[in-house]
Amino acid sequence: MSTAKNKRLEVRDKKHVWHPFTQMKEWEKETTLIIERGEGNYLIDTHGRKYLDGVSSLWVNVHGHRKREIDNAIKAQIDKISHSSLLGLGNIPSIELAEKLVQIAPKGLTKVFYSDNGSTAVEIALKMAYQYWQQLRTPNSKLRTKFVAFTGAYHGDTFGSMSVGEIDVFVEKYKPLLFPTYKAYYPYCYRCPVDKTYPSCKIACIKKLAPDCLYQGFEEILKSHHKEIAACIIEPIVQGAAGMIVSPPGFLKEVRRLCTKYNILLIADEVATGFGRTGKLFACRHENVVPDFLCLAKGITGGYLPLAATLTTEKIYKAFLGKYDELKTFFHGHTYTGNPLGCAAAIANLNIFKKEKTIQKIQPKIKLLSELLAGFKELPYVGDVRQKGLIAGIELVKDKLTKESYPMNERIGHKVCMEARKYGLMIRPLGNVIVIMPPLSITVEELKKMLDIVHQCIQSVTG
Ligand SMILES: *Cc1c(COP(=O)(O)O)cnc(C)c1O
Repeated sequence: MSTAKNKRLEVRDKKHVWHPFTQMKEWEKETTLIIERGEGNYLIDTHGRKYLDGVSSLWVNVHGHRKREIDNAIKAQIDKISHSSLLGLGNIPSIELAEKLVQIAPKGLTKVFYSDNGSTAVEIALKMAYQYWQQLRTPNSKLRTKFVAFTGAYHGDTFGSMSVGEIDVFVEKYKPLLFPTYKAYYPYCYRCPVDKTYPSCKIACIKKLAPDCLYQGFEEILKSHHKEIAACIIEPIVQGAAGMIVSPPGFLKEVRRLCTKYNILLIADEVATGFGRTGKLFACRHENVVPDFLCLAKGITGGYLPLAATLTTEKIYKAFLGKYDELKTFFHGHTYTGNPLGCAAAIANLNIFKKEKTIQKIQPKIKLLSELLAGFKELPYVGDVRQKGLIAGIELVKDKLTKESYPMNERIGHKVCMEARKYGLMIRPLGNVIVIMPPLSITVEELKKMLDIVHQCIQSVTG
């Protein structure tokens, strides 16, 4: 594309497009990089420049761009029908996909409710859990109206999902509108206020925290308030938006055990961790945990189309059955629920996992990633390096000894990522954390190159 044509596109973007999670005043000043095409693990801009898609186009892409099988599946579905409603009708791809999801999900999750993004997948789980308890209520039992979530949680941007989230910069302005939620301390071992030495601490934070700690331990909350709690929501194994925080082994299992003990439903938000990112198809598999709800989105279509699913059990489903006028129906549905194009892409995505043995094939790459990450720990401004599967977070700190953070206005993570573009790598940080989250299809050579560039850019930006 000519420079003039590109410039015109940029002007039009700035005139009309309001970008997500973006300070538009800064956006208006910066040159806009416009993507025109994709090819395998690369994004190609309007100048024809190639960038390795280092965060999978915001954690969604799985097998690369223009993956032939997914392209073809969508095209074939277009030739049949692109959309028909799931309200009162069925469609073929939604049936096939539901069956496939049930086969691969943790055992016991047999019902699939579709929507179109991660926030709504979570919203649906929250509403189902809430309504479930209302419908089981006996005259003398207390109504369970509360949820437990974790510090640093991110579950989406709608009001319900913000209410169970805890990243202040995202939700602060809306706080008066959010429903109150119990927040339990998530084990962030590297900044642990009690004991820095897992496993000797035996995940003490799940039980009871030091008296001067701002937060409560999970078990403490459940012990005191279980009669009013409908469900607990967690990002299993890796908290994403908090900065790729990996929970200590056994934590998820302990959360499941306590939920069962206190008769509280467990919602696993695998919007980010699902579909192989953590090295297994679902993160819950690392600790053989079966949640009562499983929320899926992002990678479900291989990163092609907006589709989401909330899976749940027969037990939950049955509580919604009744005569029409009993009003036990789940009165929720989005217009594009179960969209056939999205479902066709998702079926193709899952078929590739099987055909190409994707999970098996990423294991050596996961090992390589951890070897490459070892070289970052010595860098003077790297405070912590975390990894699970093909997800990693490299946390930059102003002071390695005190772990003092870089102030927000220095935008250190942003600077590193902008620098990386010069070398043909597209990444996006989470504050001061550099995120590594490539498509599962990344090659060994590309992974090495990616980490090389990141290493070099951290050094040049932090001086
Ligand atoms: C991205 C994300 C969401 C929200 O998904 P959207 O499709 O952006 O609405 C929810 N939960 C987690 C864990 C996520 O990473």
